Amino acid sequence: MSKLIWFTSDLRTHDNHSLHKACESDEAVRAVYFFDPRYYQEDRFGFKKTERFRAQFIRESVAQLEQHLKKLNIPLFIYHEQPEQRLPKLVEEHHIDHLFLQKEWTQEEVDIRAAVQQALPDSLTWTEQYDQFLFHPDDIPYSDFSKIPQVFTQFRKKCEKQCTVRTPLPVPESRPQEHWMETRTSIPSLEDLGLSSFEQDPRSAFPFEGGEQAAWDRLREYFWNTKKLAYYKKTRNGLVGKDYSSKFSAWLAQGCISAPAIYQQVKKFEKEVKKNQDTYWLIFELIWRDYFKYVSLKHGNAIFHLGGILEKDYNWADTQAARKEWIDGKTKYDFVNANMREIAKTGFMSNRGRQNVASFWAKELNQDWRVGAAYFESMLIDYDVHSNWGNWMYNAGVGNDPRDRKFNIESQAERYDGDGKYRRLWLQESLEL
Ligand code: FAD
Repeated sequence: MSKLIWFTSDLRTHDNHSLHKACESDEAVRAVYFFDPRYYQEDRFGFKKTERFRAQFIRESVAQLEQHLKKLNIPLFIYHEQPEQRLPKLVEEHHIDHLFLQKEWTQEEVDIRAAVQQALPDSLTWTEQYDQFLFHPDDIPYSDFSKIPQVFTQFRKKCEKQCTVRTPLPVPESRPQEHWMETRTSIPSLEDLGLSSFEQDPRSAFPFEGGEQAAWDRLREYFWNTKKLAYYKKTRNGLVGKDYSSKFSAWLAQGCISAPAIYQQVKKFEKEVKKNQDTYWLIFELIWRDYFKYVSLKHGNAIFHLGGILEKDYNWADTQAARKEWIDGKTKYDFVNANMREIAKTGFMSNRGRQNVASFWAKELNQDWRVGAAYFESMLIDYDVHSNWGNWMYNAGVGNDPRDRKFNIESQAERYDGDGKYRRLWLQESLEL
């Protein structure tokens, strides 16, 4: 008999609970990853669910995972196919009796797992574990998810006081050489996924590769080589270049690095280099990330509904002309336009930019906020279902912001891009400035 790990958005060997559990047995361990065609189709708003930037990042992350697993003598099978079609054959051919995977709760992922479960023999044991949090769901000071507060600060303060972050698990020891086998599978190209290849834009604030190794290289650079972590809070609202913020989001979204691993490194930095408001603030932001996961655990599919978790009954428009202007970066605000050009060319946008373009779309144009969220889902290199839909709800006034704010775009541009450097960077080709 052997064990199978189904990798999804946990593309790492360090601090990976499924990998760790599977390796507790002496039996051979196999691994599998699916480029599920459903994630590359058009969504109901007409956008590709995954555009080329994230697809490329995932391809690189899977390639690195394959290499790292090879060192452990664990073969990674890679398919461009629906898991429910391929897994029954794989389970039979490799005499799998136990499947390990990261637990998910959003509708599309639950539906896929249900289809897989139906296609697999009942005798197969499943171990699904949460592995994407900073504060593990079993450790938080709330007896069930319905008790998660509607306001972030309450959640954060209570967790900070009553919850500890679990120590990351090490990479397991290598399996015996005889457990290795060639898989004869390969990573689909962008063309195979229905996407076009591209050259990286030299202006990109995210000039990084996907993968576990790349994530740790970035952490080493940002924390240890340049000590930029010690200035994080002061620079995090920046707009230009790779170092105004950590840029961990894409690796976190694909699970190339875990939040507890980053936390442990921040603590080490605080002990060995410097502890200040800036170092704390990175943890603060990781708690925001957790919070949106708990919000979706609490509210389920409401995070995708027009009325959001507040069930707000605003009047929303869905105008094709507005959509085109926003996406093409041809609105009346050059600050919005620069940000929209950046995401279109690179798949990345700063947090400051995201807040402004979302607020403009939902609160100034009163356009269906879900169209904006779906466009971000398509384009973002760091798309994460909980952070994206949670932040969009928040900015659209249907989520966790009791203040229901609208950004003043002109004063935001003045405050964060007073000299126009950012706008010139993205708009110079259209001579708008
Ligand atoms: P840093 O400033 O270095 O922050 C460190 C980490 O903290 C980030 O990597 C991220 O994991 C987390 N974090 C920071 N801010 C937030 C936040 N507001 N909400 C949740 N987590 C946060 N983030 C995503 O990871 N995926 C998304 O799909 C996503 N969609 C967004 C949509 C909108 C409309 C808005 C306003 C924000 C969105 N964010 C999303 C949050 C945030 O903009 C990005 O996490 C951040 O810009 C990524 O850059 P960074 O890694 O350098 O962040």
